[in-house]
Amino acid sequence: MKPTFLGKGIAEWKADYPLLEELIDMREAFWVNPLYGAGQEKTPAALTETDIQDAEARLTRFAPFIQKAFPETSAAGGIIESPLEAIPHMQKRLDELYGIPIPGTLYGKFDSHLPISGSIKARGGVYEVLCVAESIAMEHTAFSWNDDYSVLKSDEFRSLFAQYTIVVGSTGNLGLSIGIMGAALGFRAVVHMSADAKQWKKDMLRSKGVTVVEHASDYSRAVEAGRQEAERDAKSYFIDDENSKRLFLGYAVAAARVRQQLDRLNIAVDEEHPLFVYLPCGVGGGPGGVTFGLKSIFQEHVHCFFAEPTHSPAMLLGLMTGLHKKIAVQDFGIDNRTAADGLAVGRPSGFVGKTLERDIAGVFTEQDEQLYRLLKLLADSEKKFLEPSALAGFPGPIRLLATPAGQKFLQDRDLGSKMHKATHILWATGGNMVPKQEMDEFYRKGAEAAARLGNRLG
Ligand SMILES: *Cc1c(COP(=O)(O)O)cnc(C)c1O
Repeated sequence: MKPTFLGKGIAEWKADYPLLEELIDMREAFWVNPLYGAGQEKTPAALTETDIQDAEARLTRFAPFIQKAFPETSAAGGIIESPLEAIPHMQKRLDELYGIPIPGTLYGKFDSHLPISGSIKARGGVYEVLCVAESIAMEHTAFSWNDDYSVLKSDEFRSLFAQYTIVVGSTGNLGLSIGIMGAALGFRAVVHMSADAKQWKKDMLRSKGVTVVEHASDYSRAVEAGRQEAERDAKSYFIDDENSKRLFLGYAVAAARVRQQLDRLNIAVDEEHPLFVYLPCGVGGGPGGVTFGLKSIFQEHVHCFFAEPTHSPAMLLGLMTGLHKKIAVQDFGIDNRTAADGLAVGRPSGFVGKTLERDIAGVFTEQDEQLYRLLKLLADSEKKFLEPSALAGFPGPIRLLATPAGQKFLQDRDLGSKMHKATHILWATGGNMVPKQEMDEFYRKGAEAAARLGNRLG
C-alpha cells in the first residue's frame, strides 16, 4: 500500500480497524456490522416497498414478451424465477467436513439456473433493459401499459429499438444478461469487459451481434469506459452497475418470490424461526437488492450476510470504514485477483453501501480454494454445478457458528437456542451457462483443493 491513505499510516488504520490485519494478509475474515439493526431515518429519496411492487408489476407486464422471446420460460408463463431447494446431502457433507453440525435446514436458491442468462444478473440486468424498452416504446409510439407486451417482439418495435444503444461495463455476467436481452429486443448493445471476463462469455455475446470491448484493467475501469462512451451519444443508455436503482429493484423482486416459495414449503420466518441468507457480493447491487427486498418483508427475522473473495473484500472495507466508494481494496495493497470472476470488484457501490449500512448483518471472506472445494462438494452431493463465485456464501453457516464474531452475533441476539429451527438460504448466484469443458476444469481444481485443504476451515 501507499505509505499513507487519507492522511493515516498503516499502523493507524490497523489500530482503528484491527480486522485490517487479516484483510491485508488476505486471510479469511468474518465481520459483524456494528450498525446492524440500528434505527434509521428515512430520507425522502429513499426507495420503498412500493418501488419493489412497481418492479414486480413491470416484470408481470413483460411476461408475455419474455415467454415469446425465450421459450424456456413458457412453463413459468414468462416469469424469470429459480428454484429454492433443500440440500440435505450437501448439509451432511458440510457437517462431516468441518465437524460442526449445522443446526436448522439448508436451502439453495439456484439463480445459477435462472433462464435467459444463468446467473443472478438475469434479475437486475434483464429488468433494467425492459425498463428502457418500455419507456422508449411509450415515448415514440401509442404503446401503453394495457397492451399485450408480446407485440414488442414485432419488426416495428425492433427497428425502433435498433436506433438505440445500451452500454454496460461488466466482469462478465451482467454483460451476458444485458447483451442477451438487449439483442432479443433489437437494441444495439456494447459491453465493456474487464480483464477477468471469460473468453466464452465474450464469444457468446459476439455470436449474438453484441459489440464486446475488451479492457486489460479491472472492473472499475471497464465501467468507467462504458460510462464515457454512452455520454458521447444521446441515443446511448448506460446501465450503471455501481449506482443503478433499476438494477437494484430488479434484484429486490427476488424477495417476494422467495416468500412465496417459503410459504409453499411451509417454512415459517418469525421470532422463533430465524432466516439466514448468505449472498456472494461483487459491487453489491445483486446481494443488496435481494437484502433490501427481504428486509422489507421479514424485517428483524431475516439476517443477510454478504460473502466476498479474500482478494476482493470491497464491500467489507466500504462498510467497516464507512467510506463506501471512497475506498478500494487496492488502497491497502489487496490485489483484487480472484477466480471468482463475478466478485472481482475492488471498489464497492456507494449507493448500495449507504442504503443498506444498517441492514447488512455482516460480511465474510473466502479463499478461492474453498470455493473450488465447495463447488466439487455440491456437484457430488446434489448434482448442481455452479461457477466459483456462486459458492462464496456456502461456508456462511459454518463461519457464523465457528468464529468468535459469529458466535457473539448469535449470543447478542439470543439466537443460540433458536438455531435448530433456523432456515439458511445459500444464494447460488450463477453457473448454468458455463461450458462443459470449463466446468470440468473447475471440478478438477475442486479435487485438488480438497486434497490440499483437508478439513481445514480456512
Ligand atoms: C454479479 C455476480 C454476483 C454479485 O453481484 P453484484 O451486484 O456484483 O454484487 C455474484 N455472483 C455472480 C455469479 C455474479 O455474476
